[in-house]
Amino acid sequence: MDTVHDNLTAYPVLLGRESDDIREECGVFGVYGIEDAAVLTALGLHALQHRGQEGCGIATTDAGRFHTERHLGLVGDHFTQKDLLSRLPGNAAIGHVRYATQGGTILRNVQPLFADLNAGGFAVAHNGNITNARLLREGLVESGSIFQSTSDTEVILQLIARSKAAHVVDRLVDALHQIEGAYALVCLTEGKLIGARDPYGIRPLVLGDLDGKPVLASETCALDMVGATFVREIENGEVVVCTDGGVQSVRPFGRRPAKPCLFEFVYFSRPDSIVQGKSVYDVRKRMGLRLAQETKPLADVVVPVPDSGVAAALGFSEASGIPYELGIIRNHYVGRTFIEPTQQIRTLGVRRKHSANRGVLEGKRVVLVDDSIVRGTTSAKIVQMVRDAGATEVHFRSASPPIAWPDFYGIDMPGRDQLMAARMSLEEMAAELKVDSLGFLSVPGLYWALGAGERNDDAPQYTDHYFTGQYPTRLVDHDRSASQKDHQLSLLVEA
Ligand code: AMP
Repeated sequence: MDTVHDNLTAYPVLLGRESDDIREECGVFGVYGIEDAAVLTALGLHALQHRGQEGCGIATTDAGRFHTERHLGLVGDHFTQKDLLSRLPGNAAIGHVRYATQGGTILRNVQPLFADLNAGGFAVAHNGNITNARLLREGLVESGSIFQSTSDTEVILQLIARSKAAHVVDRLVDALHQIEGAYALVCLTEGKLIGARDPYGIRPLVLGDLDGKPVLASETCALDMVGATFVREIENGEVVVCTDGGVQSVRPFGRRPAKPCLFEFVYFSRPDSIVQGKSVYDVRKRMGLRLAQETKPLADVVVPVPDSGVAAALGFSEASGIPYELGIIRNHYVGRTFIEPTQQIRTLGVRRKHSANRGVLEGKRVVLVDDSIVRGTTSAKIVQMVRDAGATEVHFRSASPPIAWPDFYGIDMPGRDQLMAARMSLEEMAAELKVDSLGFLSVPGLYWALGAGERNDDAPQYTDHYFTGQYPTRLVDHDRSASQKDHQLSLLVEA
């Protein structure tokens, strides 16, 4: 097998980067046995663009030849040209959109990753974060592996390459037994599209059907985009193998309780997606409704922080009877890659993205509703902007509980030292944000929005580590670096 296209031109040197530094928010997509597979994949990725805007890629297979293209930037900038099918021919394809949060944007980390293994060509696209990737990587490098990227996903490729199993699916399963953390994978081999979800199902993956052919995607909105019907979610710990003979399921991990990520509902998924059988939009509205019941202030208008607070603000307004108004307007044409050449322009910060709608805010007591508070820096700027526009009072409401614990499973979140709710009391946060009052949805309130009753044991099973600090897996790399830091500290103290 050969890689016909691979525009892998840039190889910047990475200084001092550790593989677990890269937290990736990503979307994956795959189709099998369908004409125009690359075009369908480009469309699917377009629907998943909110999951990652820094890089995108597609791999196809066509009569034993593999073709890959990876780019920095948006899907629409690279995968819409008329010659797409001649560049990426074949009737099976996988694709990836990526947003890596640290270490700059590096083309060689953009996926799908591809390798010519002795079992044949193998392309892989991954959403999630492997929590023992650094430990595994160290071992692999020591025994002679050469890495092309700093992505934790490459560890999976290397483990597959080293497996002694005879068949490619068994090799993948071998690799999966060695990794820990969160993953939704789509893989392409000659004659197979493979999907895999980690043992706790932390990251999402759904199966669709397009004219009798299988489609895999991070979210159902991508199925809608290509005209596929939703079949089911890939279950936690399930590997699905799509071939000309149909879709087969392998369960290498036995049965464990599912622990899907709550943040897909809070922030990450598109509101028109269905996650775990629930409309994301409906859940967000219910979060806002419950938030109003728990923390309603005296106010004149409910204003969402767009777009993340829109659905919750609607629910808040309906439940509180306080009118909903668009007091902040979002500019949709500000990309993450906007160049900020001087400090003066940088300090304009949030104003590039959000503008105050003065007519709605002036002289009003405003309830600002957003989905979450992470560092508090954006929220503080938005509060100031609303005050500058003449609001007499600003009451801030977060439709998720206080985020006090970092994520290690593929959501971009800073460490505990930078999480506002980990550093401060409610009163301190209110003072820092300069708001008249501050309120958060409670954890039982969030579970209620997801359909649970009031009793704790009614709570649906999700991982809620951001609020509770209870992680469903070991955090091997994190614990190792924490103990290394402690060791260095104790050496310093002894010295
Ligand atoms: P801050 O005020 O700085 O804590 O930022 C809060 C804003 O960040 C809210 O509007 C959230 O919608 C948004 N947000 C929450 N989680 C993430 C994430 N993982 N990546 C990017 N933005 C996020």
